[in-house]
Amino acid sequence: MPLYIVPTPIGNLSDITFRAIDVLKNSDIIFAEDTRTSKKLLNHYSINTKIESFHKHNEHFKLNSILKKLESKDKISVISDAGTPGISDPGFLLVRESLASGYEVFCLPGPTALIPAIIQSGFPTDRFVFEGFLPLKKGRKKRLEELANESRTIIIYESPYRVLKSLQQFIIFFDPNRKVSIVRELTKKFETQFRGTISQAIEFYKKNKPKGEFVICISSSKED
Ligand code: SAM
Repeated sequence: MPLYIVPTPIGNLSDITFRAIDVLKNSDIIFAEDTRTSKKLLNHYSINTKIESFHKHNEHFKLNSILKKLESKDKISVISDAGTPGISDPGFLLVRESLASGYEVFCLPGPTALIPAIIQSGFPTDRFVFEGFLPLKKGRKKRLEELANESRTIIIYESPYRVLKSLQQFIIFFDPNRKVSIVRELTKKFETQFRGTISQAIEFYKKNKPKGEFVICISSSKED
């Protein structure tokens, strides 16, 4: 049996595909980043499949037992707390090792925060670079220096506690008039979007304390 990577909602429980529900219902086991978080979703859709944990602290440890289950032809699904496993979430290691061991991997299309963030930014979508979470310390300065000249739209995941600090750091490296689009709480009740320059975003978040989940899109360094 192949390994199924199954995207789950990033806030709005209705954002799940019929196929995702079907695959989860018909799996022998679901590996979830946080079983308690995922139980809420699974209960909502009356999915009674057995569930086990698979997160960044045990993914190496669990790898062999999951590969053994694939060998026994178990149908296995992997979900994360929200969005698509493998996107700033565990998944990559298991996918790589499953393929290396000769198993097929199918990733269902579905929710992820980066795609709505870039689409509603209004910035070019023909070429973009997804940076996930920037390194916190080691390598951060070098990464920002590289991004200063990036001509593609940049997408960054950021925690609410660091949004303002990061923006204040961006103007050291980037043109302060470079445009940003910052989405907060996508698909949720308090979804908002800020659009403007980096300097304007700093002023905005000094007055409006960042709360919730954030994606920052930065326009091309070559934009007029
Ligand atoms: N696997 C997820 C995906 O496919 O997008 C990402 C998981 S990562 C641990 C969590 C980060 O994704 C958050 O810190 C935020 O940057 C972004 N994110 C997830 N859900 C979001 C939402 N509803 N609104 C805005 N950003 C979100």
